[in-house]
Amino acid sequence: MKQWMKNVRTVEPYTPGEQPKESGVIKLNTNENPYGPAPGVRKVQENIDDLRLYPDPTAGALVEAIAAYHKLNANQVFVGVGSDDVLAMAFMTFFNSDKPILFPDITYSFYDVWADLFRIPYEQPALDENFRIRKEDYYKENGGVIFPNPNAPTGVYENLDFVEDIVKHNSDVVVIVDEAYIDFGGVSALELTKKYDNLLIVRTFSKSRSMAGLRIGYAMGNPELIQAMNDVKYSFNSYTMNRPSLLLGVESLKDEEYFQETVGKIIQTRTWFGEEMKKLGFTFPDSKANFIFATHNQVPAKDIFEAAKKEKIYVRFFDKSRINNHLRITIGTDEEMKKLLAFLKEYLSKVS
Ligand SMILES: *Cc1c(COP(=O)(O)O)cnc(C)c1O
Repeated sequence: MKQWMKNVRTVEPYTPGEQPKESGVIKLNTNENPYGPAPGVRKVQENIDDLRLYPDPTAGALVEAIAAYHKLNANQVFVGVGSDDVLAMAFMTFFNSDKPILFPDITYSFYDVWADLFRIPYEQPALDENFRIRKEDYYKENGGVIFPNPNAPTGVYENLDFVEDIVKHNSDVVVIVDEAYIDFGGVSALELTKKYDNLLIVRTFSKSRSMAGLRIGYAMGNPELIQAMNDVKYSFNSYTMNRPSLLLGVESLKDEEYFQETVGKIIQTRTWFGEEMKKLGFTFPDSKANFIFATHNQVPAKDIFEAAKKEKIYVRFFDKSRINNHLRITIGTDEEMKKLLAFLKEYLSKVS
């Protein structure tokens, strides 16, 4: 071994879902939104100049717009390059205890990667057999708590009382609720930030706002939490948000009607698609996200995943214990889901 290798920080990186290069793909594997951003976003996009200038390091216009949208003050909002960036900053800022942080065994698979990268000890209490968080598991001493609500990749949502119970039992650490999918049918825990100064809510423009390519995420919480995150950010890279993302993010927030309409369409498709999936022998927990997490009563998930891919239909399969017989299927357009159902009908009749 070369001597310098002893000082290399080695981590097992997060594996994102595939972004296939071939054309004609039905892409239901990374929870993107099929409808695209609001029309106004596209208009502004055509008129972006001044790319030679650095962007505003405070992301001021976007911070103000997000604050106004949620009826907060600007000092209660932190903006970053997708919620992945915001979450990584939050891990670095708040999880510095010798005690382990806590997050579920089945959850967003970036959490353990950041914990390893930043050398944060962690424990992963097991979800129950219905993929629900056991809140009592979060009553013990710890260095911080994070969970998504709705959870990923299960889609399972817990109500406000449930979230509050966990926050209340952890008043001496920071609790992060990752609300990447909250717009698809859940109630945000944002109002709890008024009562609990240790609660941080993290959101993204990638899913419900259909802007994954622009990389916009944000956190909301009391000004002390936000200030602490900004101090870390400015110690790392001041110009995180690029100029077009700042402009287009502001534009997206202006069109509430388009936002509600497209989110509503996805919820409708999810309900209809779920019923059809049940008829084919699939079961899944009730989802409040833009995907369902389904298992078939006879045919292994991995076989279905591979057969679908041959037909250029991409869904997500996780080769991990407890979930390696499930598929996470993003809700696309009705037309895309019909094609998937047609494939499933034919494939399952052949193999089962
Ligand atoms: C998609 C997702 C993210 C990351 O979203 P970006 O804003 O695109 O970085 C974070 N958390 C969960 C649970 C997600 O599913």
